[in-house]
This record gives sequence, structure tokens and C-alpha cells, in this order.
Amino acid sequence: MSYPRVELDCAKIHFNTQLLIDKLTLKGISVTPVTKSCLGHPIIANTLINAGATMLADSRVNNIKRMRDAGITVPTLLIRSPMLSQIESVVAYCDISLNTEIAVMRKLSEAALRCHRIHQVIIMVELGDLREGVMPGNLVHLVKDVIKLPNIKLKGIGANLTCRYGVEPDDINMQLLSDLAEQIEITFSLKLDIISGGNSGSINWALAYQGQTRINHLRLGEAVFLGLVPKNQPQISGLSSTAITLTAEVIESSQKPSYPWGNRGVNAFGETASLQNRGQVNQAILALGRQDVCVDGLHPPSGMTIASSCSDHLMVETADQILAVGETVTFGLAYSAFLSAMTSEFVDKIYQ
Ligand SMILES: *Cc1c(COP(=O)(O)O)cnc(C)c1O
Repeated sequence: MSYPRVELDCAKIHFNTQLLIDKLTLKGISVTPVTKSCLGHPIIANTLINAGATMLADSRVNNIKRMRDAGITVPTLLIRSPMLSQIESVVAYCDISLNTEIAVMRKLSEAALRCHRIHQVIIMVELGDLREGVMPGNLVHLVKDVIKLPNIKLKGIGANLTCRYGVEPDDINMQLLSDLAEQIEITFSLKLDIISGGNSGSINWALAYQGQTRINHLRLGEAVFLGLVPKNQPQISGLSSTAITLTAEVIESSQKPSYPWGNRGVNAFGETASLQNRGQVNQAILALGRQDVCVDGLHPPSGMTIASSCSDHLMVETADQILAVGETVTFGLAYSAFLSAMTSEFVDKIYQ
């Protein structure tokens, strides 16, 4: 066995996917799982498809290409606005992309025309979190230009919330998105297939909403893999939050003073810790550091606290139990830790 390692339990990922699809289908909402945290790994893609996903989304063209190359044939959705420098591969590998810029959609149109494909676009609308999206007042004008573009089909509109400032979906911003969909359909006599209401942060709104809405689609990553929605929201009952774990190995274990001695400046990261002398502590060092994972997103087992971290070392303290050299410790992961560990080449990934 090699460490550190992330273990992904495909049965639990399958379970979460199916549960989310079942719950949201009752609300008239389709679910597109987001594979970016798993870098589009084909084992994960197939797990999601077997659990009922009929489309897969990713923010990186490379990840979508990886799935295509592995023989995944479901439609693919690129959920970050395409770069002008990668238009050709967007059209080659992605069936649909989220867009906000007419300059990009013009290039998508030209590329699609050249290779005799139809590329579908979902136009993102700004609802207040100030990430991607056209201002609501500019949507009609943009749509007017987009529907004229050859080989481009307007598939729908969508929005993203929570990621930048934590702005939450509510009846007001979701109603605005729904109303804009109707307005576009009436103005241009067309039908929008997808009204995409957001990410895992929109699940609670979707499950609770009782009124009429045109929102019929969500893009879900965190809830599928970690079984979690943003911290300040009620968690979705029944989801497994143990599908993904990270395990690291102890390389030193001893009782040490909790208070450093000598003249103190800043540490390797320019930080100064404010410390209290807590006497002797059980300190263990794990072979895991900031080059492997975003340490802030690690959840240690009970009885253990993370004291600090450097590039290659994680210092933990245990209350009673004394860890042995060679012993391993398994952590739960928040989104930041999951994303970083999956992207680190120093961390083994085990799909089981
Ligand atoms: C990453 C991402 C998602 C998925 O977000 P989760 O919070 O993991 O559900 C959805 N939409 C967009 C545009 C994204 O970038």
C-alpha cells in the first residue's frame, strides 16, 4: 500500500447519485453530475452513468476528452466558459457549454460550422454572486445575437450561486431566472430545454420549493461525492458523507513540548502562530503536507487535532492514544481538500 492515498467508494458514490436523482426527479429537476473533482476519471464517469446520469459535466476540456477517449458516450457539458484559445477542442469534445460572451459563441459557431457539428450553448445569467453571467437586463439582447449564429443551438439559460460570495438561491433570484426563461421563449418563439438553477448549494431550495418554476436542472459535484451541501444549509438526509477518505502514514511520534523555544520569526509560509503553552503533548507527524492537500479541508478522527502543517509534514496531536510510526490515519474531506488531493500527483487514488 502506498500513502498518502485517497480512497473513493464507488458504491457510495452510486448511492448518492441515485438518491439525488430520485429526490430531484420528483421535483421535475434533472441532475447532471460534475466530474471535475475526479478529473473525469472513467471509473467515476461509469459509476455516475450506471446510477442514472444521462449527461456529465466538467469544467475542464481535458477531463471531458479523457472521458470521451475512454468510450463514454453520454452528452457532455462544459461548465466553465470556453477559452478562445481552446474553441476547437470544445466543439470536438463537448456537446454543450455554459457561455456568457458573444465573442466566444461566434468562435464556437465558426468552429462548429467547419466540422459540421451543432454546438449547444446555455447562457449564464448573473444573479448576484458576481461570478459568470450576463446581467439580467442584457440577456434578451445577447440571445438575439446568439440565435442568429450558424451551427449554434440555444439549449437554455442558467445561473451559478454560492461559489464566490456565498449568495444563496432563494425564491426571488430563482423566480427571476424562471421568468427570464419565459421571457426569452415568448420574445423569440422558441423552447428552452434546460433552465439550470445552480450547484449543490441549490438542492435545498429545489427540494423545498412548492410553487411553479421553470428551473429543471442542477449541476451537482459536492453533494454527489462528499454527500454535503454548503455548511450553513441543512444537510440532505440519507446521503453518504464517507464515500471519499484520505489516509496518511505516521513518520514520527513522541511527547514534545507544545511551546517552541528560541527566537521566533515567521514560518516557511510567512505565518506567525499565536500559541499558548499547554505543556507536553502527544505529537505525531504524518507524511502529508500542503503540497499534497489543502490542509484546512481535512477532518481528523475524533480524539485528534491538526496542530499545523508545512509543505511535506502534518503535525497532529492526540489526547490519549499515542500513534505508532508506520500507523495510518484516515481523514474525512471537505471540498477544498478533496479537490486538491485529487489533483496532486503525490496522492494515490484508489477506486473501489
Ligand atoms: C463546480 C461547479 C459546479 C458543481 O458545484 P458543486 O458545489 O460541487 O455541486 C456547478 N456549476 C459550475 C459552473 C461549477 O463550476
